[in-house]
Amino acid sequence: MSDCLFCRIVRGEIPARKVYEDEHILAFHDIRPLAPVHVLVIPKEHVDSMAHLEPRHEAAMGRLLVAAARIARDQGCTDGFRTIVNTGRVGLQEVYHLHLHILGGADPLPPML
Ligand code: IMP
Repeated sequence: MSDCLFCRIVRGEIPARKVYEDEHILAFHDIRPLAPVHVLVIPKEHVDSMAHLEPRHEAAMGRLLVAAARIARDQGCTDGFRTIVNTGRVGLQEVYHLHLHILGGADPLPPML
Protein backbone atom coordinates (compact mmCIF):
# COMPACT_ATOMS: atom_id res chain seq x y z
CA MET A 1 0.00 0.00 0.00
CA SER A 2 1.36 3.43 -0.95
CA ASP A 3 2.65 5.64 1.84
CA CYS A 4 2.27 8.69 -0.42
CA LEU A 5 0.85 11.56 1.63
CA PHE A 6 -2.09 12.24 -0.67
CA CYS A 7 -2.89 8.51 -1.01
CA ARG A 8 -3.07 8.47 2.78
CA ILE A 9 -5.49 11.42 2.70
CA VAL A 10 -7.58 9.52 0.10
CA ARG A 11 -7.71 6.53 2.47
CA GLY A 12 -8.70 8.76 5.40
CA GLU A 13 -5.51 8.00 7.33
CA ILE A 14 -4.56 11.69 7.45
CA PRO A 15 -7.23 14.34 8.04
CA ALA A 16 -8.00 16.91 5.36
CA ARG A 17 -10.54 19.70 5.00
CA LYS A 18 -12.38 18.16 2.07
CA VAL A 19 -14.42 20.34 -0.26
CA TYR A 20 -15.35 17.73 -2.88
CA GLU A 21 -15.20 13.98 -3.31
CA ASP A 22 -16.48 11.48 -5.83
CA GLU A 23 -15.43 8.03 -7.03
CA HIS A 24 -12.38 9.35 -8.88
CA ILE A 25 -11.49 12.73 -7.40
CA LEU A 26 -10.79 14.35 -4.05
CA ALA A 27 -10.38 18.06 -3.35
CA PHE A 28 -9.26 19.60 -0.05
CA HIS A 29 -7.88 22.85 1.34
CA ASP A 30 -4.10 23.30 1.10
CA ILE A 31 -2.56 23.14 4.56
CA ARG A 32 -0.42 26.26 3.79
CA PRO A 33 -2.77 28.48 1.77
CA LEU A 34 -1.20 31.05 -0.56
CA ALA A 35 -4.51 32.78 -1.28
CA PRO A 36 -7.90 33.12 0.45
CA VAL A 37 -9.02 30.13 -1.65
CA HIS A 38 -6.33 27.48 -2.06
CA VAL A 39 -7.67 24.03 -2.87
CA LEU A 40 -5.84 20.97 -4.16
CA VAL A 41 -7.67 18.68 -6.59
CA ILE A 42 -6.26 15.18 -6.99
CA PRO A 43 -7.11 11.98 -8.82
CA LYS A 44 -7.65 9.20 -6.28
CA GLU A 45 -5.56 6.90 -8.41
CA HIS A 46 -1.90 7.56 -7.72
CA VAL A 47 0.10 9.22 -10.50
CA ASP A 48 3.49 10.64 -9.47
CA SER A 49 3.32 13.81 -11.54
CA MET A 50 2.09 15.37 -14.76
CA ALA A 51 5.27 14.05 -16.39
CA HIS A 52 4.05 10.51 -15.70
CA LEU A 53 0.75 10.85 -17.55
CA GLU A 54 0.01 8.33 -20.29
CA PRO A 55 -2.80 7.99 -22.83
CA ARG A 56 -4.72 5.78 -20.39
CA HIS A 57 -5.06 8.81 -18.07
CA GLU A 58 -6.92 10.96 -20.61
CA ALA A 59 -10.39 10.39 -19.18
CA ALA A 60 -9.18 10.89 -15.60
CA MET A 61 -7.51 14.19 -16.49
CA GLY A 62 -10.64 15.39 -18.26
CA ARG A 63 -12.65 14.59 -15.13
CA LEU A 64 -10.08 16.41 -13.00
CA LEU A 65 -10.35 19.63 -15.02
CA VAL A 66 -14.14 19.59 -15.16
CA ALA A 67 -14.31 18.94 -11.40
CA ALA A 68 -11.79 21.75 -10.77
CA ALA A 69 -13.98 24.22 -12.64
CA ARG A 70 -16.98 23.24 -10.53
CA ILE A 71 -15.00 23.36 -7.28
CA ALA A 72 -13.65 26.84 -8.10
CA ARG A 73 -17.20 28.01 -8.75
CA ASP A 74 -18.40 26.41 -5.49
CA GLN A 75 -15.59 28.18 -3.62
CA GLY A 76 -16.91 31.52 -4.91
CA CYS A 77 -14.27 32.11 -7.60
CA THR A 78 -16.85 33.34 -10.08
CA ASP A 79 -14.65 36.10 -11.56
CA GLY A 80 -11.64 33.91 -12.15
CA PHE A 81 -8.94 31.89 -10.46
CA ARG A 82 -5.49 30.47 -11.14
CA THR A 83 -4.62 26.80 -11.62
CA ILE A 84 -1.09 25.47 -11.12
CA VAL A 85 0.41 22.02 -11.60
CA ASN A 86 3.98 21.88 -10.29
CA THR A 87 5.95 19.10 -11.95
CA GLY A 88 9.19 17.51 -10.84
CA ARG A 89 12.27 19.00 -9.19
CA VAL A 90 12.53 21.95 -11.57
CA GLY A 91 8.83 22.68 -11.13
CA LEU A 92 9.30 22.67 -7.32
CA GLN A 93 6.89 19.77 -6.87
CA GLU A 94 6.77 18.91 -3.18
CA VAL A 95 4.22 16.09 -3.06
CA TYR A 96 4.65 13.40 -5.71
CA HIS A 97 0.97 12.67 -6.26
CA LEU A 98 -0.37 14.67 -9.20
CA HIS A 99 -2.46 17.61 -8.00
CA LEU A 100 -3.96 20.78 -9.37
CA HIS A 101 -3.79 23.92 -7.21
CA ILE A 102 -6.81 26.24 -7.41
CA LEU A 103 -5.97 29.73 -6.16
CA GLY A 104 -8.52 32.48 -5.85
CA GLY A 105 -10.48 34.71 -3.57
CA ALA A 106 -8.32 37.84 -4.06
CA ASP A 107 -9.07 40.44 -6.74
CA PRO A 108 -6.68 40.49 -8.43
CA LEU A 109 -4.46 37.60 -7.36
CA PRO A 110 -0.83 38.65 -6.89
CA PRO A 111 1.30 37.96 -9.96
CA MET A 112 3.33 34.75 -9.83
CA LEU A 113 5.75 33.06 -12.16
P1 IMP B 1 3.45 21.11 -4.76
O1 IMP B 1 4.65 22.01 -4.61
O2 IMP B 1 2.64 21.45 -5.98
O3 IMP B 1 3.80 19.65 -4.69
O4 IMP B 1 2.53 21.47 -3.54
C1 IMP B 1 2.12 20.58 -2.56
C2 IMP B 1 1.15 21.31 -1.69
O5 IMP B 1 0.63 20.39 -0.75
C3 IMP B 1 1.75 22.47 -0.89
O6 IMP B 1 1.06 23.66 -1.25
C4 IMP B 1 1.51 22.08 0.56
O7 IMP B 1 1.17 23.17 1.37
C5 IMP B 1 0.37 21.08 0.44
N1 IMP B 1 0.29 20.10 1.49
C6 IMP B 1 1.31 19.37 2.04
N2 IMP B 1 0.84 18.53 2.97
C7 IMP B 1 -0.49 18.73 3.03
C8 IMP B 1 -1.55 18.15 3.82
O8 IMP B 1 -1.36 17.27 4.67
N3 IMP B 1 -2.81 18.63 3.60
C9 IMP B 1 -3.06 19.60 2.67
N4 IMP B 1 -2.12 20.15 1.92
C10 IMP B 1 -0.84 19.72 2.09
